[in-house]
Amino acid sequence: MTEGMKLNTKIEIQSHGRYGSVIYQKNSNTIELYWEMSGSKKYAILLAPLDLRKWQDENEIPINEQLEILADLRCWLKRENIKTDIDLPEEIELENKVCIHSGCNETRIKNSAYCLRHYNESLLKL
Ligand SMILES: [Zn+2]
Repeated sequence: MTEGMKLNTKIEIQSHGRYGSVIYQKNSNTIELYWEMSGSKKYAILLAPLDLRKWQDENEIPINEQLEILADLRCWLKRENIKTDIDLPEEIELENKVCIHSGCNETRIKNSAYCLRHYNESLLKL
């Protein structure tokens, strides 16, 4: 189940032609993420890998909160009808193979070498 975006969260996109930024705000924290226009028809803009390691004020963002930000961004981008390379795969079918992430025993998602958690982490700069 996907949780809706919380009221304390605000996202906006700025464009400077072929590139721009997405500004994510949660309470008093802000982070600016850069995008560039995609060359392929599959995506409108490219955002990966997302650098969600620190807020603008240099405070570190724990990994679980980074994954929440990723989920919020996806939810917002979907509503805005903007296709990006951080979208979830269209079908999340599980494959009968184990995730390649070291020590992980979860099942892979379709067309990926990773389980969902590690697929999400693969979109982040760690
Ligand atoms: Zn995994």
